[in-house]
Amino acid sequence: MAPSSFTACPLFLARIVLAPVMVRPDPSNLFGRRLRAAHAGFPGSRVGWAEVELRGSVRIATIRGIEIGVHYSWVLVFLLVAWTLAVGLFPFQYPGLSTGIYWAMGFVASFLLFVSVLIHELAHSFVAQARGLGVNSITLFIFGGVSNIAREPSNAPDELLISAVGPISSVVLGSVFYGIWIGLGDGGGAVAGVAFYLAFINVLLAVFNLIPGFPLDGGRVFRAIIWWATGSFRTATRIAVTAGQVVAFLFVIAGIFIVFTGAFLSGIWLVLIGWFLYSAAGASARETQREAWLQGVTVRQVMNQTPTTVEPELPVSELVHREILQKAIRALPVVRDGLLVGMVTLNEVRGVPRERWEETPVGAVMTPREQLQTVKPDDDLAVAIRILAEQDVNQLPVVEDSRLVGLLSRSNVMRFLQVREELGMAEEEERRAA
Ligand SMILES: [Zn+2]
Repeated sequence: MAPSSFTACPLFLARIVLAPVMVRPDPSNLFGRRLRAAHAGFPGSRVGWAEVELRGSVRIATIRGIEIGVHYSWVLVFLLVAWTLAVGLFPFQYPGLSTGIYWAMGFVASFLLFVSVLIHELAHSFVAQARGLGVNSITLFIFGGVSNIAREPSNAPDELLISAVGPISSVVLGSVFYGIWIGLGDGGGAVAGVAFYLAFINVLLAVFNLIPGFPLDGGRVFRAIIWWATGSFRTATRIAVTAGQVVAFLFVIAGIFIVFTGAFLSGIWLVLIGWFLYSAAGASARETQREAWLQGVTVRQVMNQTPTTVEPELPVSELVHREILQKAIRALPVVRDGLLVGMVTLNEVRGVPRERWEETPVGAVMTPREQLQTVKPDDDLAVAIRILAEQDVNQLPVVEDSRLVGLLSRSNVMRFLQVREELGMAEEEERRAA
């Protein structure tokens, strides 16, 4: 139901070691950026890391309708990998080559690693598409790749397929590079060195991803199997998320331990990955919870049934003094004889010079009905939330036969979710106490 959910396969980088993981549904993505800030203030909720890092990326290509983007943080990974290989691994494994050659090997290997992660990500996305799920974009960032998939799969076999194909593609890639390394034989030199590294790293990517801690690919496979066996998506998610948080916690512990053994960078990286996985697992759990809450809820149950409205003839000065300032309302439906004719917000008012407020009627500045997105009272709330996010608006007029029957705002939705969240917590406590 959420406007988008994530399949992310972040890279895991300990020294020269890289591996991806997965993150999917992102609760604060429910309404896009603006609600994120609001959500951050919720009791008992956190804005996970997964949600934050995808702004500031550059689109480099579009493949089968999927926008491929690179976040600036990827540049850091690219350079770090190239550098570590050029001055560390390659001179150690293949002594006697020139510095220039080592750097060339480093950059080629780092670039092909980028391609490998992209292929891993495309494998998830193509299978998702084949199973009827829309895929909006793939972004490569500091922890690897994120596939932005329209929603969760509706059945366990699809989830299993979409999750498993990532590690499988990495194993296939690893085998191809291994074949190249074998084919080149002893005289392969620099090219063979790069091929061997890529064979190793791709297999490592697959192995790391198969750790059964949600939201790693392996954790998703694990969830799909429980889902299949129990028939309950929620139960499966709860078990898989718990397993994922245990795994994430172990990463953090291992990272701290490694820091004390002297491998500072590797240790810190492991801690960061653990933290990332932990927040991603929690985000998935909350998303699943919200989907459950939103099931069967209509716009009518959440909307403001008696919104303040104005008539198109009202001067802007009156609108400002009588409504906006007095009642602290930012957006008002404009209504004539009960029929919606438009919407006026602070933005439109700001466009009118103060000295013209008296003579300008609301009707002259409002957004007219034809340009407004509206919903019906019996529409699913989930659909309305999607529209709020997609149109990036703060409220939707609720209309039945051209008559305004209510106003659904982001704050209505937030309050609804907040009450459910608090009720849910109370229930949880009661169950624990019993
Ligand atoms: Zn993956």
